Order: sequence, then C-alpha cells, then structure tokens
Amino acid sequence: DVRVRFPPSPTGLLTVGNIRSALFNWAFARHFGGKLVLRIEDTDTARNTEEGYRYTYDSLRWLGLTWDEGPEAGGDYGPYLQSERMDIYADIVAKLLAAGRAYHCYCSQEELDQRREEARTAGQHSGYDGHCRNLTPEQVQAYVEEGRRPVVRLRMPDRPIVFDDLVRGEITFLPENLGDYVLVRANGYPLYPLVNPVDDALMEITHILRGEDLLPSTPRQIALYEALAEIGVGTGRIPRFGHLPMVMGEGNKRLSKRDEGSGLGEYMERGFLPEGLLNYLALLGWSIAEDRDVFTLDEMVAAFDIRKVNSNAARFDPKKCEAINAAHMRMLPPEEFARRTIPFLAQAGVLPLEPSDEQLAVLRAAVPLVQERMNTLSESVEMLGFLFVDEDAFGVDPDAAAKVLTGDAGAVLDATVKALSGLSETEWTTEAIEAALRASLIDGLGLKPKNAFGPVRVAISGRRISPPLFESLELLGRAKALHRLEQSRR
Ligand code: GLU
Repeated sequence: DVRVRFPPSPTGLLTVGNIRSALFNWAFARHFGGKLVLRIEDTDTARNTEEGYRYTYDSLRWLGLTWDEGPEAGGDYGPYLQSERMDIYADIVAKLLAAGRAYHCYCSQEELDQRREEARTAGQHSGYDGHCRNLTPEQVQAYVEEGRRPVVRLRMPDRPIVFDDLVRGEITFLPENLGDYVLVRANGYPLYPLVNPVDDALMEITHILRGEDLLPSTPRQIALYEALAEIGVGTGRIPRFGHLPMVMGEGNKRLSKRDEGSGLGEYMERGFLPEGLLNYLALLGWSIAEDRDVFTLDEMVAAFDIRKVNSNAARFDPKKCEAINAAHMRMLPPEEFARRTIPFLAQAGVLPLEPSDEQLAVLRAAVPLVQERMNTLSESVEMLGFLFVDEDAFGVDPDAAAKVLTGDAGAVLDATVKALSGLSETEWTTEAIEAALRASLIDGLGLKPKNAFGPVRVAISGRRISPPLFESLELLGRAKALHRLEQSRR
C-alpha cells in the first residue's frame, strides 16, 4: 500500500515549493488510494510557535490537501509531531550504537576544521576522515576524562550507494563523497538526517517525493535505512525516492522565501482560488497533456504519474499563475463565484459578511458581468465595490477624474442626466438605458461611443474600468445612478 508523507517544519511559512511537494505527494496518494501522512518536523522547538502549527494545518486545509494521518487526523503511527518522539529517537540511537552501526565521535570543531584543511591542500576529499571510527576503550576513556562530549555519527558503508530515482533515473553516490555524518549533536539534540528517515521507516513510508535540494542527503538516508533494517526498525524496505525539480524565480535563481510570490499568504490575500493555484503549481514539473494547462484536481489525481515528472528546473511565472487562476475563476458556477467574493468585499468594508437578500440579489446579478474579466477574487472590490458602497462613501478615483471628467465631459453628463431622468423606476432596464443614452449621446450629440460613455462610466463606478456600462447602471439603480451623475457634473 502506498504511504507518502509531507513533513513541514512549523515555522509559519509555506512556500510554493513546499506546496508543490505537498501537492505531488497528495496526488500520488490519491491516485493509488494510498495514505498521505502529515508529519511535523519540530525538533527545533525554539523556532516553533503555536501559530506556526495552526498556520500549517489551516493552509493545507485551505488548499484542500487533506491528510489521512497526522495532527488532528490521528492514525496508528503517531505521535506525528517529532517533538513528541524524542524518546523514540534516543532509543534507536542507543540500538545503532550497540550494533556498531553508529559510533561516538569526540573530535572538536577545531580539530575537524584543521584536518579538513590539510586534506584539502593534499588534494583529498574533505568529508569526515573517520578519525573516531575505531577508537580503543583506552582512547575513549582518555577523551571522556578530558571532559569531551561526543556527537554520534553513522558508520557509512564502504561501497557506492545506487538508487533508481523515480524522476531522475539511476543515481550513484561514491563512498569517498559520503563521510560518516552526524546523527546527534554533543548536546543530545537529534538532527534532521536522523529523525527524518527514522520516522519514514517507523511510519512505513513507501515513496518519498521531495525537492531536489534534498538529493545530497538521500544516500545517507538510504545507509541509515539499511542500518535500521539491521536492528529491526521499520519494514526493512527502503522507500522509493523521487526528487522534484527546483523552482526557479527571477534571474533564474532558486525561488527563495524572500522572493515575491513565494509565500502562500500572498495568494490567499490576493484571492487566488486554491484549485487555480494548485493547478499552476502542478505545472512546475508535470503536465497532464501537451498543449493543456488547465485541469481540475480530480483530473490531476486520475492522471498523475511521478515517472512523467520532468527533471529540468521549472520556472515560476507569476503571470501564468494568474492566467491559470483566471481560467478556474471562469469555471466556477456563478452562485459559487458570488459566494467566494463575499469575504473580499467584506474585508474591504463594501459588504457585510452576511449580506442582505437585496445585496445578494445585486451580487448574483453582477457576477455574469465580471466573471470573465477577473483574475483573482480580490479584484471584486474594484469591479463590484461601486454597486454596494454607500453614497457618502462613494468617490471617483482622482486619476480617472483627471483623465476623463474634463473637456466635454460636463456636457456629456448633462445630456446623460436629462436622458436618464426621463426613465421611470419601472423603465430602468439595461435595454431602455442603452437606447436612451445612444439616442441622446451618439445620435443627438454626435459623439463617438468612447467619448460618450467614458465619462458616464467614471461618474457612476468611480473608475475607468468597470463591468459593462448599461448593465451596471441598471444594477446600481435609478436613484444612485442619477445622484452620482449629478455629483460628477459639479
Ligand atoms: N522538514 C524537511 C523540509 O521541510 C523535510 C524534507 C523531506 O521531505 O525529507 O525541508
């Protein structure tokens, strides 16, 4: 049975790179009807905050990347917080030491640095030189009496480590590049290269899909796996690895936490749809078919094949991300589209979180006018805000006023008020409004549509870009529309 994992640190940050890893593991698990385990890598307790954990769970839920085992879900392989597994690690390290698969190393940092430097000048490889591999009891005694406190190192095998990467094919690491590495610090603190594979073994993880930046640690983890199998920890089966291509940002540098567009928070605030963001992130290394960029998560799950992931670095393209999101915006049923804009309109103070029936009716009627034109949900504030905002809070964007409400605009607005005043409340329909304005401004004043309707648009919406004008006038209602037109005339 397929068991994959997503192991974030709860530092309060999920980046698009993390999320892409989570997504591929999720899709892989769902494709095979397997399990996705959420494991929190929080041994570095100083950096953990309550909000960090919350944020991690909430973010994954917002994305819809549900986990089958882990915090808040439970499961038979817990606890799923590494901070609660310290006894397990201590126990396993004791067993590795007893079996001779790990050993205490008493070298000080200065000694290590010095020997590394010597090795380098002699043109030798500069990993750990195995100094403490085979200490005699007397040597150990002497170090202990000096008051030295040892780290624990894994005894690496003296042969190449070869594995078949699911993305990159066969990869070989030579022993001279794989020094015995530190599992536990001198202060007893267990390190990532220990706890991550130990948990993968104990949680019976079958496939590890993660960023290529972690490739150098893979041969070490495989060696640890072999050692764990010898001491009877886990199933003894080494998981399959698939290293996902790096995500590159501006200037072809690896996208970093500090880069704009790298953090999930930005996408939530800007009103991306989770399905749109995930669709785009899926394209960072994978595609459903040639010439096809837009798909649903269900389609991804059905088609997902880790063997088809491209090993070349992927370029993160914010414009394309937005375009894919826009495609998903258009795919939403209108009612659902309306529902999802409400939190954004509410946050901007345009609508209450629970709008009145009347407000909802206007919102629903407005959706078909804007659904094709918006890239993100937050744009609903600019696109629709003018329909809901109170008259005393309504204002025309100064830049739009300066550009459009000048010259002949006064005459245009005069004629508009005159034409529209002639329509009664019951005659206030898109068709009648359009007919009245065309008769008055185009036929009557002989204006081009752009010069005729531009000032009207700015006067009633406050902006140069709005939903279609005649429909907007109808939705705004006679009283508000005439009031705003009058205001703009002054
Ligand atoms: N906690 C590690 C990280 O977030 C996990 C890496 C892995 O997948 O092994 O980088």
